[in-house]
Amino acid sequence: MNRLVVLGGGESGVGTALLGNAKGFEVFVSDFGTIQAKYKDVLKHHAIEWEEGQHTASKILNANVVMKSPGISEQVDIVQQLINHEIPVISEIEFAAQFTAANIIGVTGSNGKTTTTMMIHHVLSRANFEVIMAGNIGDSFAKQALTNPEHFVLELSSFQLDGIQKFCPHIAVITNITPDHLDRYDYKFENYIASKFRIAMNQSAEDFLIYDADDPVIQHHLNSHNIQSTLLPFSLQKTVAQGAFFDNQHITITYNNKTIKMPTSNLALEGKHNIKNAMAAATVAHLLKIRKDTIRESLECFQGAEHRLEQVLKINKVQYINDSKATNVNATYFALESMNAPTVWIVGGVDKGNDYTALYPFVNEKVKAIICLGKHNEALFENFESMVDVMIETQFMSEAVKIAYNIARAGDNVLLSPACASFDLFKNYEDRGQQFKNEVRQL
Ligand code: ADP
Repeated sequence: MNRLVVLGGGESGVGTALLGNAKGFEVFVSDFGTIQAKYKDVLKHHAIEWEEGQHTASKILNANVVMKSPGISEQVDIVQQLINHEIPVISEIEFAAQFTAANIIGVTGSNGKTTTTMMIHHVLSRANFEVIMAGNIGDSFAKQALTNPEHFVLELSSFQLDGIQKFCPHIAVITNITPDHLDRYDYKFENYIASKFRIAMNQSAEDFLIYDADDPVIQHHLNSHNIQSTLLPFSLQKTVAQGAFFDNQHITITYNNKTIKMPTSNLALEGKHNIKNAMAAATVAHLLKIRKDTIRESLECFQGAEHRLEQVLKINKVQYINDSKATNVNATYFALESMNAPTVWIVGGVDKGNDYTALYPFVNEKVKAIICLGKHNEALFENFESMVDVMIETQFMSEAVKIAYNIARAGDNVLLSPACASFDLFKNYEDRGQQFKNEVRQL
């Protein structure tokens, strides 16, 4: 019998266990931490064996194949033992892909994965395609692979891509690459870049790689590596013969001598980064031969994801914006860039060694006050103290919002875009964004 061991009993682990079970594997789930009650119930219901608080080697090293959840580092002891025993350790994506005949669209990048994945899903759904969105978003891909849709749109992290061998999306998107998660990549940016490009490693000329041509990191990697995929760049800065570009408030998309052009003036989401995301999504839709009007209409009514430049409320003509998902400088760069009014900026949290220099021009130009919301704000003071008149520290969201309320004047924005992780004061970025919204609603 084929023994499948699943390391990690979270969303992707339990999804894989269910899929493996349905496909006739003998399944064992092992989690070094605790497994949430809702997942334990699912495992019990399907009579799948599991353990928590330990990894019992004798029940793991007899596996034929092991699925390692993306959150578990390759360095942990049990994974090293598996590698020494030459037992294949793969990701959920690799395991699940072999059981679906669906067309796979994979989206990766440092920022914009969720937004772009949701946009693609939205456009395809409105074109009446049978499409399921999965990966790092919603239900796991493995669980969803038990159903058989025409198309999957998968949000893929670099950790998911690290564990693939044959996985090959027919259409791949790389939104951008900026330094992130370097602790998992020996602090080498090139390792992280290589990990992102694994999305295209099994592609041939019949497959497509859609990417940001304005991103120097992506461009450099493409110039120095032999990629088989048909390349479809998108650009805000230059025209491209194949792919998408932005000019004079219009997006033009060309593939195989067929060009469509649509205005961006009514796009639902603001900011240049969202024009990039829209170009990526529209290129996918064009490849799938969706009508221009359907693409345009879908992008015009697309509601963005929560915590991403989310317009919360307008109070006394001050717009409050929740961008809690901005956990790195690049995301905050696009948030500040898209501000079109004087802004009170709430920033801070766990600084992963940020280089803030790219933000200087926007802070000088648009930010009237900075509220530091974090335990350690030294780096923020060093970088920005000389640029703004008001700079205040707090460790409470309630206080941050009240201070912002007192400083902001009619026509201003109050923007929460932390550029940092949230774990010093909050459970996660969702908690941080939710608290911000609750406090704003109580003003
Ligand atoms: P991810 O899933 O890759 O983390 P999200 O769509 O959740 O990406 O967005 C994360 C943050 O990055 C948000 O603050 C959002 O406003 C910002 N963002 C979205 N798209 C882009 C982009 N193309 N480039 C840079 N930042 C982006």
